[in-house]
Amino acid sequence: MQFSDLPLDHRLGKALEIKGFAQATEIQAQAIPYALMGKDLIASSKTGSGKTLAFLLPAVQRVLTKQPLSRKDPRVLILAPTRELAKQVFLQLKWLISKHQLKAALILGGENFNDQVKALRHHPQFVVGTAGRIADHLTGKSLYLNGLEMLILDEADRMLDLGFSAQLKQINAAADHRKRQSMMFSATLDNAALHYLTQSMLKAPQRISIGVSGAEHKDIQQRFLLADNVTHKERLLTHMINEKDHRQVIVFTATRADTERLSNLLKEQGLYSIALSGDLTQGQRNNIMSEFGRGQQHILVTTDIASRGLDLLNVSLVVNFDLPKLADEYVHRVGRTGRAGNKGEAVSFVGPKDWASYLSIKDFLQQEVSFSEVEGLTAKFKGLRPPKKAKSVAEKSSNKDASARAKSAGGASNQGPERVKPMQGTEVGDRPMKRKPRQVIEDNDE
Ligand code: ADP
Ligand code: MG
Repeated sequence: MQFSDLPLDHRLGKALEIKGFAQATEIQAQAIPYALMGKDLIASSKTGSGKTLAFLLPAVQRVLTKQPLSRKDPRVLILAPTRELAKQVFLQLKWLISKHQLKAALILGGENFNDQVKALRHHPQFVVGTAGRIADHLTGKSLYLNGLEMLILDEADRMLDLGFSAQLKQINAAADHRKRQSMMFSATLDNAALHYLTQSMLKAPQRISIGVSGAEHKDIQQRFLLADNVTHKERLLTHMINEKDHRQVIVFTATRADTERLSNLLKEQGLYSIALSGDLTQGQRNNIMSEFGRGQQHILVTTDIASRGLDLLNVSLVVNFDLPKLADEYVHRVGRTGRAGNKGEAVSFVGPKDWASYLSIKDFLQQEVSFSEVEGLTAKFKGLRPPKKAKSVAEKSSNKDASARAKSAGGASNQGPERVKPMQGTEVGDRPMKRKPRQVIEDNDE
């Protein structure tokens, strides 16, 4: 479908034309008409399929063409789970509204609170931000949402994983306007934890789901390699990075400490590598993302802080040095490549510590998953057996066959809970601040 076939305001049509976007992606073609009708939406489609414009275009159209409910309060609020993603959405929004007398504010944790108070006093029609800091502004009475017309949650499921549910409740209650329209977007919106959020935030939502979240992403070639230990993983990493000419590479690790360590290791090999983790100040985080975004660094070593939403079109290889604990996160991590029709590769190392995650990912992915090998770097580790159960006599006699056992080792259905909790010390992005309102107002992270 062409954008010109959608009932979009001509000013938006013009902006898309300048950008060279003629054809709407599937999620855009399906979601935009409902969004323009004012319906609540819960929409999912694979990573890199253009969800941002699917919510930004209707949001800007609403502000351009409809009378505001309030001249003071923001009309559109967009929430994202990480500061980096919120900033990226903000930049796309700025591009869309650049020719109009419209204002947008970016409200992130880790940035100066009082500067944000000042920005909010200018009555921006759009606010983009992370849930923790937005909630702090509500508590501090520097932000009111009584006039809010549209609430958009990008990567809503991740916000819940990060423990933002109280902040989301607070935001929902502050913007409890009868006419409010709400929309949620992600590549993974079918998990049970979201049920409460959709029930409380959305009114008779239209569900749009292009494909299923575990379905094969045709543009991403995915491989799994067995690994014995960290040293073995390091050798595999070097091999993968040098295997061919990759434009840019993202390496995901389980811990913040490992980002720095691995990045240094790659630098020692003469590679341009940089580490990003939540330990850094917001200024450092911004610099790193802009260096990587501009292509000054070849490799970004990071945690799940960069797994969601980031649109880096030159990333041709994603390496899971450690597997994520949640299968959903696997989908998002590998989705940092193969975006907007480009081809990409993803390779995941599976050691003994990754085995449980591997089984849950394998269960989640609705596609063939098998192990590849690298010549000279074959692992001795061949996988773990499932924990022994007390067997009945009948089972004992039928289960003598070793091949039957091997088969059951592959099936994850009885390998414990479907969604494994993130482990302690795992990167968790932009957690809400646990401080009293007074202190929050004085907060100044940098
Ligand atoms: P998602 O949120 O689904 O992961 P994004 O919204 O980040 O995907 O979009 C991925 C990339 O596709 C971006 O670089 C964006 O500019 C580009 N894009 C979005 N819509 C279109 C379109 N209709 N035609 C061409 N490119 C598009
Ligand atoms: Mg997105």
